[in-house]
Amino acid sequence: MIDLHTHSTASDGTYSPAELVRLARETGLFALALTDHDTVEGLPQALAAAEEHGIRFVPGVEISVRFEGPGHCHILGYFVDPHSSSLRETLGLLQKARRERNRLMVERLQALGVDLTLEEVAARAGEGEIGRPHFAALLVEKGVVRSVEEAFERYLRKGAPAYVPKARLAPEEAFSAIRAAGGLPVLAHPVHLKLSAEELTRYVAGLKEMGLEGLEAYYTDHSREFTTLCLDLARRYDLVPTGGSDFHGHNKPDIKLGRGFGNLTVPDECYRRLRERWEHQK
Ligand code: AMP
Ligand code: FE
Ligand code: FE
Ligand code: ZN
Repeated sequence: MIDLHTHSTASDGTYSPAELVRLARETGLFALALTDHDTVEGLPQALAAAEEHGIRFVPGVEISVRFEGPGHCHILGYFVDPHSSSLRETLGLLQKARRERNRLMVERLQALGVDLTLEEVAARAGEGEIGRPHFAALLVEKGVVRSVEEAFERYLRKGAPAYVPKARLAPEEAFSAIRAAGGLPVLAHPVHLKLSAEELTRYVAGLKEMGLEGLEAYYTDHSREFTTLCLDLARRYDLVPTGGSDFHGHNKPDIKLGRGFGNLTVPDECYRRLRERWEHQK
């Protein structure tokens, strides 16, 4: 069992990178990747902890990219060098845009009569990047809503009154940033694109032309049928099938590390093939 898609306190997870590695060890994972949203700040701590606990660790990142479709598109970067200055520079721009967006979302919420400040949201996020899950947690804590789901439904989801879109890279820009850091670009949770099988095939073919190396076939929200479709696509376009739970700790309490909703199993072979692909392109 492995998990190649997780979040720590460096973004919107609730476990620190070191705690996450320890949990992976306790869960008996063969390999773990940390893939925080738009940041590599958690990777050095995770790498050190992985060395200490003797677990195979893949330094990763997850970048939201522009997508003209019904759902959303996230690109995972695997085996990125956390010290790459060009990757850090690109992520720095996204983080700057995020701070501006957070300010705007606070203004929107205040205009809607919600009593909250950016400082309070920041306190929820700790050291890490601030995102909508931190807004949601604060709204629950303040009793404005009963649950995180309600916070998204009433205020934060795309189209809701406090929603402000996030600055995004084009897919090819995300690919170059990942490549510049020595990493492999992989399409995250294809189900969230919300495309038909034919549309997904065309989209994946387009990304392959841009240098896509893998496809997240095993994922918490994937049905057995959808996983099979992804495995077929991976074979057809010579992509490494990968998989992960999208663990966020207590921010998504139903999702267990390595197990998703309970029936996720990502084969160890995904790790081996990803690593092989990375070693060949080095
Ligand atoms: P942001 O990057 O600030 O736009 O926040 C995106 C994060 O919000 C995602 O990674 C999810 O963890 C979380 N999220 C998005 N929609 C929902 C939802 N409806 N319920 C709970 N969490 C959500
Ligand atoms: Fe998240
Ligand atoms: Fe994602
Ligand atoms: Zn994720």
